[in-house]
Amino acid sequence: MTDQAQVTWHILGAGSMGMLWATRLARAGLPVMLIMRNAERLRTYKAAQGLTLVEGEHSQQFAIQAQTPDSDGPIQRLLVTCKAYDAEHAVRQIAGRLRPNAELILLQNGLGSQQAVANLVPQARCIFASSTEGAFRESDWRVVHAGHGHTWLGDSDQDCPPTWLKELQQSGISHEWSSNILTRLWRKLALNCAINPLTVLYNCRNGDLQRHSDEVNVLCVELSNLLAHCGHAEAAHDLIPEVNRVIQATANNYSSMHQDVTQGRRTEISYLLGYVCAAARDSQFTAMHLQALHQRLSEHLQQHGLPCA
Ligand code: NAP
Repeated sequence: MTDQAQVTWHILGAGSMGMLWATRLARAGLPVMLIMRNAERLRTYKAAQGLTLVEGEHSQQFAIQAQTPDSDGPIQRLLVTCKAYDAEHAVRQIAGRLRPNAELILLQNGLGSQQAVANLVPQARCIFASSTEGAFRESDWRVVHAGHGHTWLGDSDQDCPPTWLKELQQSGISHEWSSNILTRLWRKLALNCAINPLTVLYNCRNGDLQRHSDEVNVLCVELSNLLAHCGHAEAAHDLIPEVNRVIQATANNYSSMHQDVTQGRRTEISYLLGYVCAAARDSQFTAMHLQALHQRLSEHLQQHGLPCA
């Protein structure tokens, strides 16, 4: 039963992660409202009569309420699950509906989009998240929970955890409050930069990078030096062994960037390798290998008809 006094979880971006969170929160009886891109997406959602969560052999449909950004009604809590390149524009569309003390949870990969959103809504509390969950859209309005992971949440401005973490617990969303969320995001970003672009350029699985270990290690050294230069030395601790461990542990997997490229989807390059290269330029740090990798990746994306930003 939903308690009327409970704050609604507004979810902006009903894609893989948005559906994964929405269905689990709704299953726990919590109030959820999806915010669709536009009236046409809302129409197709209503025709489907709800979201379906697929876990192993089991699937269950949830008739979750939905609306468009221009609907009425204030927003107290907003989970943003758009891609990094869509987040700022999507939040701008609903910014006028945010209550003065609203809380936003930003689930984007990489770095850059979180700061852009936080600058757009200075009155709100922005909580950054880093997740190892794996989900994909089997079809519209149907999400497969492919990999059970963990989500770290944190706020670089105030370290006080929000009271709604217990609702995540209640919903079976594995999580923890992190007092160093920026270090986590930088660490994940560094791992991504050392692995994902090369898997695209060599068109290979993660494990195949063991044949290119010299190139991987050169990138790790440059990333470690850059992170230390930018004040994130902790995020670079033992990066080489960690990158090699991830390459081995995920040897059979295709990286998320590789999957995006093979499926003809826009990548989040600007918030991953692009962000790191911009950080190097802004702090007058020479990142020769990362810049060269960025150049090669941008050319590769262009050749495949994909945006390089
Ligand atoms: P996704 O499946 O592409 O979902 C993004 C959703 O955002 C889509 O449903 C899209 O709408 C919606 N959207 C875009 N602009 C919008 C707007 N202006 N208003 C309302 N909705 C809008 O992406 P995802 O895989 O969930 O990834 C989201 C973020 O989580 C990314 O940064 C990703 O790197 C990160 N992440 C994903 C996973 C994973 O396993 N999927 C794991 C960890 C982290 P349409 O449906 O209309 O296109």
